[in-house]
Amino acid sequence: MQANLATELLFEISEPGRRTHRLPPCDVPAAQLNTLLPAAHLAESPPPLPEVGEIDLIRHFVNLSKRNMSIDTNFYPLGSCTMKYNPKRHERLAALPGMADLHPLQSDASCQGMLQMLWEMQNILAQIAGLDTVALQPAAGAQGELTALLVAEAYYRDRQEKRTKVLIPDSAHGTNPASAAIAGFDTVAIKSGANGLVDMNDLKAKLADDTAVFMMTNPNTLGLFDPQIAEITRLLHERGALVYLDGANMNAILGITRPGDFGADMMHYNVHKTFTGPHGAGGPGSGPIAVRADLAPFLPAPIVVKDQDQFKLDYDRPKSIGRVRSFFGNVGILLRGYCYIRTLGPAGLREVTENAVLNANYLLARLKKDFEVPHGDRCMHEFVASARLLKREKRISAMDIAKRLLDFGFHAPTVYFPLVVPEAMMIEPTETESKTTLDAFADTMLKIREEDAQFLHEAPHTLAISRPDEIKAAKEPRLRWKP
Ligand SMILES: *Cc1c(COP(=O)(O)O)cnc(C)c1O
Repeated sequence: MQANLATELLFEISEPGRRTHRLPPCDVPAAQLNTLLPAAHLAESPPPLPEVGEIDLIRHFVNLSKRNMSIDTNFYPLGSCTMKYNPKRHERLAALPGMADLHPLQSDASCQGMLQMLWEMQNILAQIAGLDTVALQPAAGAQGELTALLVAEAYYRDRQEKRTKVLIPDSAHGTNPASAAIAGFDTVAIKSGANGLVDMNDLKAKLADDTAVFMMTNPNTLGLFDPQIAEITRLLHERGALVYLDGANMNAILGITRPGDFGADMMHYNVHKTFTGPHGAGGPGSGPIAVRADLAPFLPAPIVVKDQDQFKLDYDRPKSIGRVRSFFGNVGILLRGYCYIRTLGPAGLREVTENAVLNANYLLARLKKDFEVPHGDRCMHEFVASARLLKREKRISAMDIAKRLLDFGFHAPTVYFPLVVPEAMMIEPTETESKTTLDAFADTMLKIREEDAQFLHEAPHTLAISRPDEIKAAKEPRLRWKP
């Protein structure tokens, strides 16, 4: 019987003696081998690895890969995640031997090109942020948040101010309160008003002398730019507190406005989102942070500096919070982001934003008559529709729609986030999709709306796995194969 190479594990198709390649016989005499390695380090038997031929190995992985949804195969409107097309040229550039073969322990003098790229990236990101200094180390947005909050903590400690609270709107990404808690702060939720923006009365009521940081996402997770931002930053600064900008939505404002200009004191980028690092299935990412000059001494060391015409790593930063990541961060993703920014230039980046916002508004306009969109007739680069009425009238949930979309070859939108919208479907098309694709997606959404509820509860109908028990999968993961 032929093995099912898509569902069986390599361990299950293993046959003793099968190989992908054969090495020539060992020409070191056995007696000599035994003296080369101490007996204590010799295994008694070979490790229990699967034994398969090359063709079966290839089929196994190629078949598995075909079961993935990816930005290269499917429209991927996963809100907040900015799943834009990742140009393949970046992969070629990142694979150049001068980049890919560098070792992080090389001397500064022997990797000047890489250091120059990182130094330029620091400056470019500072300029786009409208802030003074950038640290590239954090490995993703969430680690950028944590790093910035540790910087804030060090800043207040240096000023001998005791501030314990971080204020966070209730529409924020879950990483915001998690980062604040890990950094040792107490978190305070700020309500959103009926319009989806920060409820100013609630903010004023909760703002106090012990407020350290207000963490804000602008445009927020509902796809709305909060026009109260100047007033918000003024209120925070009046109390001596800092404003943190969660930069996950930079794709909506590149070249249009800058966080530093609207009063943010620090922010993170998600280079993998905004500047194309392939990040489906969770990584790798890059989450540099940008801060105002008075926070810069506390940034993680080292920072790349230019000394005459030489680039070097500056470890001499006595107030630094120290390292947050080995070596210089995920330079492979920073390099891809650098290629993207340099390819497009300032005008191109602005066009990215304009097209991302246009695409999102086009989809919004096509869907809002048939799907409730609680906040706003206009959006930035994404919007949040709700299946609340659909659920009440026809028992069709956001999850049913998300699952059914897979049958039509569309990745699902982000669902059940942000928490302030019941039955949320957060749709972010990005700028890299054509009108044809957007129309096909909108047509499919409208079609699904008319389908039988029971049929939808059982979707997807065309994929190998239909409805895994997600809670059980999270709580009782089976990560090890047992014979
Ligand atoms: C993605 C995201 C984050 C976290 O960033 P990671 O790079 O995934 O760690 C934080 N906030 C918002 C709004 C996001 O969309």
